[in-house]
Amino acid sequence: MNIIVVGSGVAGVTFAEKYRALSPEDEVTIVTNEHDGYYSRPLLSRGFTKTDIEQSIILKTFDKLRDLSINVIAGSEVIAINRSTKTVAIDGPGQEKSLSYDKLILAQGSAAVVPPPLRGSEKLFFSLNSLADLKAMRKFRQPFLNQNRHPHWAIVGGGLIGCEVASDLATAGDKVTIYHALDRLMERQLVAQDSASLLAVLQASGVEVLLNQAVRAVVEESEKICVETDVNAEFDAVIVACGFKPRTDLASHAGLDVARGVNVNNHLQTQDEAIFALGDMAELPDGKIYAYILPIRNQALWLANYLSGQVQTSWLAAPFTTKAKVHGFEAAHPYVL
Ligand SMILES: Cc1cc2nc3c(=O)[nH]c(=O)nc-3n(C[C@H](O)[C@H](O)[C@H](O)COP(=O)(O)OP(=O)(O)OC[C@H]3O[C@@H](n4cnc5c(N)ncnc54)[C@H](O)[C@@H]3O)c2cc1C
Repeated sequence: MNIIVVGSGVAGVTFAEKYRALSPEDEVTIVTNEHDGYYSRPLLSRGFTKTDIEQSIILKTFDKLRDLSINVIAGSEVIAINRSTKTVAIDGPGQEKSLSYDKLILAQGSAAVVPPPLRGSEKLFFSLNSLADLKAMRKFRQPFLNQNRHPHWAIVGGGLIGCEVASDLATAGDKVTIYHALDRLMERQLVAQDSASLLAVLQASGVEVLLNQAVRAVVEESEKICVETDVNAEFDAVIVACGFKPRTDLASHAGLDVARGVNVNNHLQTQDEAIFALGDMAELPDGKIYAYILPIRNQALWLANYLSGQVQTSWLAAPFTTKAKVHGFEAAHPYVL
């Protein structure tokens, strides 16, 4: 059997490794647009206090995966799925422009959401969703540090990622202002009491938090970036952290059912019996998307077992909690999905 996995995040790599171990006679290929190897996406938000992050974030190099007899086509994008010929089209520097599959595993993750007022201004701000994003931010910051200065960042969005990045930048010595459209931080994950203690922890670390401030625009003003709300203010750089959107375009162009994510049944199978989806991009029949490491690893291990004939029962989400990686903050009521 020929298995193609699209994406080299925790979903794709965990699946590929487990499936390879369970079914050594089958061919397993990962196609990924990443260049640097399989890395820990959660560690991105510790990317400013850890000096060796660009190396220590790598969990496994692509060569290490190749040593496990997993083919890895890196720096390449799957651009189309042809369901009738069971092939995928690939855009990349290598020889392979088309590959055929018996089973296709979509593990494409999610992309940063850009709120409507900021669309069209993408060149003016950063978002933090990949190692390439982190490297770009670190590269921007380095000339300030070389001159013994620290940049002043505006972060648009006081959700999980916005708060984590603000905390890490402030701990690394930078000035940070968070703009949050609602009246409390991380309102989707935390009870009001924990939002209040998070606010106090961030403020104590020097972060300025502006609540009830919907950003209307981000514009360039000479060397600075101006954030427009009721009051306009200038910054060295802006980070937009307004959530993530499952990558559904490839699947929807192939005629697969898509709602918020790619629709799958309780066997993580799309309506095409040869195509499966998991991780940040997959929407289960209960409407949930399990966009956290623990359930995704669990999905990937289950799917490898299922496709190699080890289990017949469907995937069941186990309860789990998650916590914000904000320096010095511990929620009293951990968020349960
Ligand atoms: C800054 C940050 C901090 C986080 N912290 C935590 C945390 O503390 N705890 C937690 O549980 N979760 C955390 N998360 C969420 C967690 O990292 C994600 O839920 C998880 O990484 C998603 O895994 P995935 O494999 O589904 O997708 P991803 O890790 O996004 O991997 C998908 C990969 O597929 C590639 N790809 C997409 N389309 C194509 C294509 N057409 N061709 C080739 N390659 C393609 C993408 O470039 C990407 O490399 C965090 C996320 C971020 C961004």
